[in-house]
Amino acid sequence: MTIEIQPLRILQDNYTFLLIDNSNNQAAIIDPGSAGPVIDALKSKNMPLSHILLTHHHYDHSGGVKELKQLYPQAKVAIHQADAGRLKDACDLKLSEGDLIDFGTASIKVLHLPCHTRGHVAFQIEESLFTGDTLFNAGCGKFFEGTATEMLKNLQRLKTLPKTTQIYCGHEYTVENLEHAFQADPSNTMLNERFHQAKVAQAQSSTLVPSLLAIELATNQFLRLDDITLQKQLKTDNELDTLIALYWIFYRETPAR
Ligand SMILES: [Zn+2]
Ligand SMILES: [Zn+2]
Repeated sequence: MTIEIQPLRILQDNYTFLLIDNSNNQAAIIDPGSAGPVIDALKSKNMPLSHILLTHHHYDHSGGVKELKQLYPQAKVAIHQADAGRLKDACDLKLSEGDLIDFGTASIKVLHLPCHTRGHVAFQIEESLFTGDTLFNAGCGKFFEGTATEMLKNLQRLKTLPKTTQIYCGHEYTVENLEHAFQADPSNTMLNERFHQAKVAQAQSSTLVPSLLAIELATNQFLRLDDITLQKQLKTDNELDTLIALYWIFYRETPAR
């Protein structure tokens, strides 16, 4: 891996991620919900910022853009075209599915995953995937601007990525998500081990990212919608209905189909 990734905990429970290319002495930031911790990290490394990458327009992922742009005017703000108009700040790169963003020696691929917002994207760089508010550790984001059918398509797509992919999500919800997961399927013993690890990490306030896609495939029920035991527990017989039933357990709302 040529790009170093440094997760920073910000706001209540958000993660922002500093990407560092030491060979080219440049840095990028993903989802800076606040600027202070990002500026501190950049100053300690004495590195300029070349990109500000946003998975979507929500303020807890973009609230630091203005201040960062003032300090690093050369940094390019990138967001999907469907979310660009709703960002409070100007953007330099309007993204589309499949775009490649050059960052030092690496290139960052854009995966359009509409549902949490119309323009939600994930960023794929080398063996890492930044999933914003689409996929969380053991959970899935809210369907604010999309249907269950759209999210199902996103989830099915993420399942096809290499199992060794490191998953960096936008919020630290691991413990809460696993509590919901127990409710959905108390028979899944694999959840136990993950729950205890997460509790220990939470008590030490350490970061629980990255997760591994292989671990999500084993314990994230939103990636296990075809699991017969889960379907039995939820009294469903297909992935879409299982997703809708699971969403109810996690969020107490029934999403649009
Ligand atoms: Zn969001
Ligand atoms: Zn968020």
